[in-house]
Amino acid sequence: MTSLRNLPSIDALLRASTALVDCYGHVQVTEALRRVVDEARQAALEDAPVPSEAELVARAADALARAARPTLRPVINATGVILHTNLGRAPLSDEALAALAGGGGGYSTLEYELEAGVRDKRDRHIERILTAVTGAEAGMVVNNNAAGVLLALTALAQGRAAIISRGQLVEIGGSFRVPDVMAQSGAIMVEVGTTNRTRLRDYATAIDEQAVCIVRAHASNFKVVGFTETVPLADLAALAHQHGLILLDDIGSGALLDTAAFGLSHEPTAQESLAAGADLVMFSGDKLLGGPQAGIIIGRADLIETLKRHPLARAIRADKLALAALGATLEHYWRGEALEKVPIWRMISMTLDAIRVRAEAWAAQVGGDVVAAESTVGGGSLPGDTLPTWALAPHVTQPNVAAARLRAGDPPVIARVSDDRLLLDPRTVLPEQDSLVVAALKEL
Ligand SMILES: *Cc1c(COP(=O)(O)O)cnc(C)c1O
Repeated sequence: MTSLRNLPSIDALLRASTALVDCYGHVQVTEALRRVVDEARQAALEDAPVPSEAELVARAADALARAARPTLRPVINATGVILHTNLGRAPLSDEALAALAGGGGGYSTLEYELEAGVRDKRDRHIERILTAVTGAEAGMVVNNNAAGVLLALTALAQGRAAIISRGQLVEIGGSFRVPDVMAQSGAIMVEVGTTNRTRLRDYATAIDEQAVCIVRAHASNFKVVGFTETVPLADLAALAHQHGLILLDDIGSGALLDTAAFGLSHEPTAQESLAAGADLVMFSGDKLLGGPQAGIIIGRADLIETLKRHPLARAIRADKLALAALGATLEHYWRGEALEKVPIWRMISMTLDAIRVRAEAWAAQVGGDVVAAESTVGGGSLPGDTLPTWALAPHVTQPNVAAARLRAGDPPVIARVSDDRLLLDPRTVLPEQDSLVVAALKEL
């Protein structure tokens, strides 16, 4: 058995750790040293050699550095999934990032009117650009779309009937389930039609004096194919208005541009929904809009006013960071530069040739094959749709092991394993990250 007496004392180790103590403090360093000494003692009992004092200090330094590193870290998304739910959905544009650092981070005119030097409402900044871009009469922003839907139902339909098709009682990623949100709002859900077919007369026969609204929820993340029927939004709007009801439309992704122009299926856009007669349209800020997490509600000014005055609105309001980044993102649409400036739209509209050039540039530096593959939009939108892409397939014998090693790097690179091949898709890698991807692949 190795002699345990050779293990240095904690005091001796502490004296050799002054730089660490300066950095992490006495308590943390003592604890870390105790842990590495305990481990060394255990190992020595199993005949491992006793580490030197320097080695023990180095191990403690390692452990402290690991513990101090935030677990929320930037990563490089080489998966080809544009709105990767687990990787933070939409990356922000340079201008949106600048807005975070500017008006978002410091003191700002958030609730201040400069000319008179008096208090003002935080909604006004975003409402101006939101209505300019969408053509809506009014608009507001809350924490996320789930909150927006909950607010609209609570403020407008609590204790009254909300009519919805059985084909739209959807679950969007984990915790957002339309029937649960309905229940939470206090609205009485009236289900009509069937999972695959709902007709206008199904809605019509459900309308009684308790009814206050018809709700449409976009089945964002799944498709019903075959023997199906849904009611066009304009027909739903006409029916609702004929009976003095409100039409609420949860379009989910909040596309302002037409996805069909890029070989994808058509996602409902906010503008279409308004044009079809929806009274309120609700969508996310960080899906196809390409901005920060937010829930956007646009539509009739009187209804928006009712929502703004509801006590729940304060509990779910958007913070100044989100408002700053969202304002900057919406400006890209207003200027007609969204395809060039909003990262997710740049990715969606990227040409195959441009992707191939990048994949080949990677391959020229690190080897591997450039292969035809598929990117997806993700984020619970456009289920089953793919965009053709070119990916780099590095020559590795164990793709899962290689993927794990890329994840362990700094910054972590998230690749995809498909058909027993490791694939890296340039579409979702920001152009300025190309050299980091190459460096990570060289390390492999
Ligand atoms: C994504 C989605 C939601 C939830 O939006 P969050 O911004 O994630 O809260 C609600 N409804 C639909 C139809 C969606 O697609």
